This record gives sequence, structure tokens and C-alpha cells, in this order.
Amino acid sequence: MPESIKEFAARAFAAQSEGGRLPLDGEGMPAWDVFPFEASDLRVKEVAPLGDEMPRMGEPAGPECWCRGGSDGGWAEVWADDNWHVKVAPPSGSPLILVLEPLEHVDLDELSAEQAGEFGIRTVALVRAIESLPSVGRCHVSRWGDGGSHAHVWFIARPLGMTQLRGTYMAVWDDLLPPVPVEVRDDNAAAAIAHLRQTLGG
Ligand SMILES: [Zn+2]
Repeated sequence: MPESIKEFAARAFAAQSEGGRLPLDGEGMPAWDVFPFEASDLRVKEVAPLGDEMPRMGEPAGPECWCRGGSDGGWAEVWADDNWHVKVAPPSGSPLILVLEPLEHVDLDELSAEQAGEFGIRTVALVRAIESLPSVGRCHVSRWGDGGSHAHVWFIARPLGMTQLRGTYMAVWDDLLPPVPVEVRDDNAAAAIAHLRQTLGG
């Protein structure tokens, strides 16, 4: 039988020291060359007790979804077809961040087989479009979904040759690096969307 969440959490609590902290393995993650912080003064936060899942945007107890009149955070739509659209993130440490969403209010696990096929085709086209930019070494594709119940998948450009930014920490480096100027973000978005249109129209 699969483990319960109480059993899972109990193991995490049991691993904490008397001071209520998980040990920070200096030979582990903090030693990775992609780890963004000096490890000497870091300590791990206390493991919080189990609680209820937080209401997400678009759920009954959460804020209204953007598709039903709620705030879209000011993100501009830069591409759309009949069933999907792409929004561009405000300038950040990444050369370009785009988000792909279905126009219908469904979460990723609710996509029909047809929608899932459309999602796959658009995902591949977006990766190719972003990786065609001269300043981009890789396009990371990420779905978290803890903030909103309307499916949204992130396409995060990792700068070319900046191998310290490899992998999952690109999402952290994105907050640490100076934001790209808005005109740079706009030029990158325009070039990527032009590439996308060659594949998908829209
Ligand atoms: Zn929605």
C-alpha cells in the first residue's frame, strides 16, 4: 500500500535535530556548482506541520481566475490560436519567460486527449522558438500549479554559456540576476513568437 502523508511527514520530523532543523549536508546540494548561495551561514527552515492545501486562484475559496474576470497580473498575451495562448512574464533575470495556457479553465490533469496532444505540439514549438534566440542556451519547461488552478506551464530561457545557471536553480537565479531591460525582453519575445508563428500560425 502506498505510504500515507502522515508517515511521510513523520520521517521528515524525525530527521530534525533537537533544535528543530534538518541538517545541511555540506557535501550535498550546497556543494553543487549551480547552488546560488554561500553555504556557511545557511540553515534549513523548520519543517512546518501538515496543514490544509491552500486555495488556488480559480478555486471556490481562492481569488477569481483571470479567465473569469480576475487579475492576470498585467502579463501581456503575445500569441493565441483558437484554444491556447502564450503570455510573456515581466522582465526578470532570464532573457525571456513565456507561459502557455489553454483558453478553457482546466488544470493540466483535466486536459482531454485532444487538448493534451495540442499541448505537446505547442510545448515543442515553444522550446524550439525560445532556443532559437542568440542569448539562450536552453529552454526549461516547468509546471508547478500551486498558485493557480488554470493550467499554466512555464518556459524559462537559460542564458547561453552561463553554465552556473544550469538546471532547476535557474528559477532561483531568475530572481537574483538583474532584470533584463524591457526592450530586450520585448525583442526576445518578438523573435520567439515570430519563430512560433512559422510552426503554428496563430
Ligand atoms: Zn481560468
